[in-house]
Amino acid sequence: KNYSLNELREMYLKFFESKMHLRAKSFPLVPHNDNSLLLINAGMAPLKPYFTGQEEPPRRRMTTCQKCIRTGDIENVGKTARHGTFFEMLGNFSFGDYFKEEAIEWAWEFVTKHLEIPVERLFATVYQDDEEAAEIWRNKIGLPNEKVIYMGKEDNFWEAGIDGPCGPCSEIYFDRGPEFGCDSPDCGVGCDCDRYMEFWNLVFTQFERHEDGTYTPLAQKNIDTGMGLERLAAMMQGVSSIFDVDTIKAIRDHVCQLAGVTYGENYKNDVSIRVITDHIRSVTFMAADGVLPSNEGRGYVMRRLLRRAVRHAKLLGIEGLFLKDLVKTVVDNSKHEYTELEDKYEYITKLLTVEEKNFNETIDRGLNILKAHIDEMKAEGKTVLDGKACFTLSDTYGFPIDLTHEILEEQGLKADEEGFKVEMDAQRQKARDARGGSKYMGADETIFNQMDSTMKTTFVGYDKLETTGTL
Ligand code: ATP
Ligand code: MG
Ligand code: MG
Ligand code: MG
Repeated sequence: KNYSLNELREMYLKFFESKMHLRAKSFPLVPHNDNSLLLINAGMAPLKPYFTGQEEPPRRRMTTCQKCIRTGDIENVGKTARHGTFFEMLGNFSFGDYFKEEAIEWAWEFVTKHLEIPVERLFATVYQDDEEAAEIWRNKIGLPNEKVIYMGKEDNFWEAGIDGPCGPCSEIYFDRGPEFGCDSPDCGVGCDCDRYMEFWNLVFTQFERHEDGTYTPLAQKNIDTGMGLERLAAMMQGVSSIFDVDTIKAIRDHVCQLAGVTYGENYKNDVSIRVITDHIRSVTFMAADGVLPSNEGRGYVMRRLLRRAVRHAKLLGIEGLFLKDLVKTVVDNSKHEYTELEDKYEYITKLLTVEEKNFNETIDRGLNILKAHIDEMKAEGKTVLDGKACFTLSDTYGFPIDLTHEILEEQGLKADEEGFKVEMDAQRQKARDARGGSKYMGADETIFNQMDSTMKTTFVGYDKLETTGTL
């Protein structure tokens, strides 16, 4: 049956309610009392105190559908079929209650009995040292040996951030069929291509990681599972990527309509369409949860995502202010579950539009400066714009470097890429030194590694916004 994304969310939560789980609403994207994480990146993140035993949970079994942001996946977005910076994670949790056996059995029951996904297309992975989980898959579930695949720490040991509950995990994969495979003779579960898609992670939270990198066993054994709702919907709807799932396709179609382009005709355009579709979801949900664009922390993440969306919109030829139109589609598709979207609708559109306007002004200013450089180069017979000038454009004026490249190219000119890189590296080193003992790691660290200086410009326009908090 072709379930909608919203129906699947409901089916999952109901199923675990029938297994005596307490259903809770998604927690906000901004972590509460937790500075080890910039943004909530998994269903378990807001529940950490229940796992460690620090706080008493309202019930030993809970189930949620949690809003998540993973900035570490930004480079994947638009390129893979399964990554968004924003996604929803379905989860069932046990705080010192049931453990591996029930977690695996119930996951299997939901997937094969309720959703009726054919067993032939399913595979399980386990952590290399976790014989206990492998035995359950083989003996209790009856999976043949070759469908229980051992994997290393990278894939099958879960930890979020520098400290907190963690443990080995077992993941369920779906074979989407040979048409999604790659040419590698080793193509199989764990291959980077889109054929075997990981969709559900069952984490056996039995350890606590400490800031110094050591682990101790937790007094209570826990279960933390995470299933990507968009990935599940893509499987159930028989579509090739999360961008073809009903609620997300609605946004994608709207982007195409604004740009006057057709999806699926041109790879480069498609990447831009997917990037905009994803990023608009992220910034809309972030705005609803009170994040403000700024030059650091989560505000910086938001600013970067928004600008990237605007940048790709320009590549597609979308003119004028367009974010507010898309916000409406995002809200319409998710407001039933996330009522904050509708409650704060006015605020969200205003906030994002202010940021969008500011960025547009930045681009206009940069264009003027670049034009002056070009005139000068032509007068002097030069063909390469020096790295310093490129860097100043990007660092001081916030003008994206790829735009500099593009415009120079149109004029038969080039940018000094080496020189730009030298300036950029020096800048990154400075940023690293300034960050010193930052606690951020894992998924969020990459945002710093990938920090393009474009996003670090100071916008006088925001000072007002940030200090007075009014729009
Ligand atoms: P992948 O290996 O595909 O990047 P992951 O191992 O990083 O996924 P987990 O941390 O195990 O993902 O998260 C649990 C589940 O959340 C995944 O099995 C997947 O269904 C979903 N998920 C993770 N990252 C994303 C994302 N960027 N976009 C959409 N869904 C995601
Ligand atoms: Mg990942
Ligand atoms: Mg994985
Ligand atoms: Mg995983």
